[in-house]
Amino acid sequence: MHIEIQRNADISLTKQIYHSILDHIRSDLLEEDLQLPSVRELSKQIGVSLVTVVKAYQKLEQEGYITSVQGKGTFIRKTNIKEAEKKEGAISYDWQLSIQDYLPRSQFARFHQVPEKIHLSSSMIDPGLLPNRYLEQEIHKMLSENPKVLSQYGEIQGDKELRQAMVEYLKRMDVPTTPDNILVTSGSQQGIDLVARTFVGPGDVVVMEAPTYPGAIDVFRGRGATILTVPVDSDGMRVDLLQNLCDKYKPKIIYTVPTFHNPTGAVMPTKRRRQILEIAKSTQCLVIEDDPCSEIYFERKPPASMISLDQDGHVIYLKGLSKILAPGCRIGILAASGSIFKRLLAAKANADLGSPLLTQKAIIPFITSKRMMDHLKKLRTALKIRRDVVLEILSQHSPKEVSWFVPKGGLNVWLTLPFWLNTDHLLLEAKNEQITFLPGSTCFPTNQENHYLRISFSYMNEPQLEQGVKTICNILQLAIDSKIKQDSSPYF
Ligand code: PMP
Repeated sequence: MHIEIQRNADISLTKQIYHSILDHIRSDLLEEDLQLPSVRELSKQIGVSLVTVVKAYQKLEQEGYITSVQGKGTFIRKTNIKEAEKKEGAISYDWQLSIQDYLPRSQFARFHQVPEKIHLSSSMIDPGLLPNRYLEQEIHKMLSENPKVLSQYGEIQGDKELRQAMVEYLKRMDVPTTPDNILVTSGSQQGIDLVARTFVGPGDVVVMEAPTYPGAIDVFRGRGATILTVPVDSDGMRVDLLQNLCDKYKPKIIYTVPTFHNPTGAVMPTKRRRQILEIAKSTQCLVIEDDPCSEIYFERKPPASMISLDQDGHVIYLKGLSKILAPGCRIGILAASGSIFKRLLAAKANADLGSPLLTQKAIIPFITSKRMMDHLKKLRTALKIRRDVVLEILSQHSPKEVSWFVPKGGLNVWLTLPFWLNTDHLLLEAKNEQITFLPGSTCFPTNQENHYLRISFSYMNEPQLEQGVKTICNILQLAIDSKIKQDSSPYF
C-alpha cells in the first residue's frame, strides 16, 4: 500500500495515515478482508514512529473500518458488513498497490464516486436538468423501428446523419465545419487522447494552461510528454508569456480551454485567440481548442471560436456533449482539417473502430429540433441561479482572506486562498462533513499549487449548494483562525 506523507504539512502524521487508509477503503482499492501491513512494517515503510501508526490504526478500528485479530494481523472491515460475511483465507493483493502508476489525477476520479452527500467536486450536470425522458423515448422508438442498429458497425468517422446535424448545430455557435472534417468521438476526453496518441511522443513538448483541466494532464503525461505551463489570468492563457516559451521549446501542441476555462471560468478575448494562432503558425504547432460548455453563458455570448479564426488548419476543435445533453451517451466531436484530420481518423480506428451507433442515432432528433435551443436556454437560466447562490453564500460567509473569480458562464467557481492553506488537507475535513470539492493541486500540471479549490455548481440543487458552500466557508474560517492563533502563540 502506498501512503504518501507530507512532513511539513499542518495536519498530523497520524491523521494523514488515517485519512490515506480511509480514502483507499472508500474508493475500493482496499478490499474487504485485505490484511494491512503490521504496525512495525508500516512505520518502517513510511518512516514514522510506531505510536503514530498505532494511533491511526486505533482510530480506524474504533470507527469500524479495520479489525485486529490477535496473532493474525489487522484486516479491512467495512462498516455495515457483518462478521459472518467474511471469507476465510482471502488472497492478499497488497503487492499490487506497491506498483506505482503515472496517473495520479485519474485516480482522483474514483473518489468522485464515493457517495458523498454534497458533491461540489465534479462538474457534471444535475441529471434533472437534462432531457433524459426525451432521449429514452427516442432510443425506444429507434430500436423498435430499426433494431439492426445493434447489429451493425457504424462508420468509423461517426454516423453521417449525426455529423451533418452537428455541422448545423455548430454553425449557430460560429464554429465552421463540414461533415467531412468532423469525427465523432467518445466524449471530448477521447478527442484529447486521440490527438495525444497521434502527435505526442516521449519528450515532446506540450504547452498547457496552469491551472487546467486535470483529465488532459494525465493524457499527455501518459504519452511521456514534457509539459510546460503558462499561467492563466482573467482573460485566460497569458499569451505574453507564450511566445518566448514556444520560440525556445518548439511545442508540438498548445492545449487550451479558451471559453469558460476549466477550472477558472475565464474567457479568452478574440485578440488573445488570434495571438495564439499567430504563435502556432510561427512555430508550426497544433492548438487543441477544448470547448465543453461555450453554450452555457450567463451574460453575453462568448467570442468566436478559435477554429473560426484559423486560416491554416492549426486548430483541432473539440466539442463534448456531456455538459449540455447526455454524458451517458459518451458523444463528442473533433473537427480538424487536411492530413491532421486523416491521421486522427486512423487513430480513432485503432482506438475503437467507431463510437456506438445506438447513442449517436439517439441524439439526432433532439439536436436537430427546436427543443435543443429551448433546452439550452433553460439550462443557462438554471445554472445561472445556481452560480448566483454560490456567489451569494461566498460573499456572506467566506473568510476575508479568500477571493474568487466571478464566472460569466460554465460550471465552476475558482477560489484562491492564502498560500499557506493546503486544500488537499481541507478536502479531508470536507469529506468528514460528506462534502467534496476539487482541490486545486489536481489542476496544475507541473509545480503543484495547493492553495486553490474549485467548487462546481452544476450538479447540486440550490439548498445543497447553500449548505455545501457554507460548510466549506466554515472549514476555511476554522483553518485560518487556527493558523492566526498559532502564529500569535508565544511558543512560535
Ligand atoms: N475537457 C474539459 C475541459 C472538461 O471539463 C471535460 C469534462 N469535465 C472533458 C474535456 C471531458 O468531457 P467528455 O469526455 O465527457 O466530453
